[in-house]
Amino acid sequence: MSITTNRPEHTAEHGELLTEHLVGATWDERRGWSATTAEPYRDLSLDPATIGLHYGQVIFEGLKAHRRADDRLAIFRPGEHARRFQRSARRLCMPELPVGTFLSSLRDLVRLDGHLLSDDPGLSLYLRPLMFGTDRSLMLRPSRGYRYLLMAFIAGGFFGDAVAPVSVMVNRDYPRAFPGGTGDVKCAANYAPSFAAQRQAQQFGCDQVVWLDATSGQLVEELGGMNLFFVRRTGTDVELVTPQLTGTLLPGVTRDALLKLGRRLGYRTSEEPMPIDQWRAECRSGRITETFACGTAAVVTPVGRVRDRDGDWNIGDGGTGPVTTRMRETLVDLHHGRAADPDAWMEPVD
Ligand SMILES: *Cc1c(COP(=O)(O)O)cnc(C)c1O
Repeated sequence: MSITTNRPEHTAEHGELLTEHLVGATWDERRGWSATTAEPYRDLSLDPATIGLHYGQVIFEGLKAHRRADDRLAIFRPGEHARRFQRSARRLCMPELPVGTFLSSLRDLVRLDGHLLSDDPGLSLYLRPLMFGTDRSLMLRPSRGYRYLLMAFIAGGFFGDAVAPVSVMVNRDYPRAFPGGTGDVKCAANYAPSFAAQRQAQQFGCDQVVWLDATSGQLVEELGGMNLFFVRRTGTDVELVTPQLTGTLLPGVTRDALLKLGRRLGYRTSEEPMPIDQWRAECRSGRITETFACGTAAVVTPVGRVRDRDGDWNIGDGGTGPVTTRMRETLVDLHHGRAADPDAWMEPVD
C-alpha cells in the first residue's frame, strides 16, 4: 500500500491514516444549520468550557466507502446512517442534521479524499461523522450551539486483514447499556465506560467483550462495538439467529443487511433472545455451529472461543465456519460492486 499525505503526524494506530480534509457545519438557535464547508484537516480550537467536553453531549456515526471493481467509489447505506445520526441527536437533545446535508457532506469528503483509497479490496474509506455541543458554559443543560464534523481514514480489516476468529470474554462486571439508557444510539458516552471491560478481557487474553443485558445478566446482547449472529445447523438447514432489538442493543446497519442477505441466500433467520447458558449448551450439543460478529468496521468476524467465569468453550472447532465465510463474502462482494444490489444499498459518488 502506498498512500501519500502531507500530514504524517496524523497517522493513527493500526496504520489508519486520517485523510486530508474535514467537512463541517455549525448550528445555532437563531440560524439553524449553516452551509457545510470543506477545509484541510486541522486542529480544532475549543474553549476549555465547551459544554460537550464536560457533559458528553457528543454523537457519532461510522460508515464506509469502497472502491468498486469499475473503479468508482460507493458508500454503503448512507441514508440509514443519516437517520440513525438523527435518532442519536434526538436522544441527546441535539438538533437533527438534515439527511440531505449528511449525505452531501459524505459525497464532498469522498470526492476530495477518495483518491487516497487504493484499489486494494482489503482497504476502505471509513467515514466518521461527529456532532457535539459547543456552548461555552458549564451549566447543566443542552448546548445552544453545535458543530458537525466529518473526517475519514483509510481502514484495513478491523482485526487485521485475515479473518482469523476472535476469542471473547463474557463480561460480568460492567454492563454496557440498560433500559431507558442510550444503548440504542451512538453517543460517545456509551464507549468510555466500556473500556474497563475491554481491558479486563485483554488481561484474560481475549480480544473482545460479550455484553449481557443489565437487568437479568443472562441475555447475550452484543460483542464489543458489534452485533452478534449465531448459526444453527449446517447445509440447507441453516438458521441465522440474532438477538432482537430490545432498546439496549445498537441497531447495526450491518446486522440489518445480513438479516436481509441471509434470507436472500435461502437461510432462515430469527431475532430472538439468546441466554448465555443456552449459547453454551447449544455449542456443546453442536446445534450452534458458528457465531460471528458484524459491524461497519469489522464487517463479519468469526468468534472462535468464549471465556466465562466458570470455563471456556469453543464454537464449532474454533475456526472460521462456512456460513460466516459466505456471509462475509456476500457482503464484501456487494461492497465492491461484484454482486447484485437489488435494494440499491451502494450509493456511488461521481
Ligand atoms: C456501531 C455499533 C454497532 C454496529 O453498527 P453498524 O451500523 O453495523 O456499524 C454495533 N454495536 C455497537 C455498540 C455499535 O456502537
